[in-house]
Amino acid sequence: MLSYRHSFHAGNPADILKHLVLSQVLEYMTRKESGFDYIDTHSGAGLFELNSADAQKTQEYLDGIAKLWDYQGDNVALRDYVELIKSFNDNTLSFYPGSPKIAEHYLRRQDKGWFFELHPKDLALLEQNMKGKKSLRVRGEDGFKGLQALVPPASKRAVVLMDPPYEIKTDYQQAVTMIAKAHKRFSSGTYMIWYPVVSRSRIDLLEQTLIDSGIRNIQLFELATEQDTEQHGMTASGMIVINPPWTLKKSLDEVLPELVKYLSRAGGFYRSEQLVDE
Ligand code: SAM
Repeated sequence: MLSYRHSFHAGNPADILKHLVLSQVLEYMTRKESGFDYIDTHSGAGLFELNSADAQKTQEYLDGIAKLWDYQGDNVALRDYVELIKSFNDNTLSFYPGSPKIAEHYLRRQDKGWFFELHPKDLALLEQNMKGKKSLRVRGEDGFKGLQALVPPASKRAVVLMDPPYEIKTDYQQAVTMIAKAHKRFSSGTYMIWYPVVSRSRIDLLEQTLIDSGIRNIQLFELATEQDTEQHGMTASGMIVINPPWTLKKSLDEVLPELVKYLSRAGGFYRSEQLVDE
């Protein structure tokens, strides 16, 4: 059963945090000349039209990228991110890139991209959006399993983004289990797990499971647009990063307060934590 479509959510505050972290990690990886593999286990369609019926139905981007479109503040990471999103648009905000298109921006000739997507409609869109470069491979397969077959990579350098829909509650456990399994085969990779905060206790458990896994050097970044609640709906989202670039936390320490200022309502907050030491 695949009912989740990211087109309803593209450009919302959760995407902003996720794609900012992704951009920072990929930019860092390109500082070395040697190639690396980027593995996107749950890719989505790759590019989203904000005037589509799906995006207009929820208009989540109005609470996200639309609020940053005219950003003129001092934060360089945020300025660079907004510039990147603008590069997919003419003067007005019409398109929002998903993780595959953001990754494509950073990947060089010597790098490889692997993009997994199971939804038939999003897979067709993804194939269309990513066509043209032999080094970018789209797979209509389960990304949890596909990841295991790709590590360790021949390049010996890799970045993994795991961004499941969490519609099935088992995704929480499955994400940690599959990252831990891949990490066992390839412990020097950089692994990112995106998570939604719908129920705080579920995220407490996710964090504790990772802490108990024995994996070292884990950071956590979270943006809450409102305070935690037991009511229905997502109030925050986060990125957990294993083996982050040494530059990442400082950068997020500076950008997260800015995101709270622009995107959060009363009660909003951020977290930037070293969950497990190196
Ligand atoms: N990473 C994308 C981005 O940032 O633009 C958004 C991905 S969306 C949250 C999750 C996607 O995973 C959906 O398009 C869904 O169809 C797909 N999906 C669900 N289960 C999957 C699986 N086991 N393997 C690969 N893709 C899956």
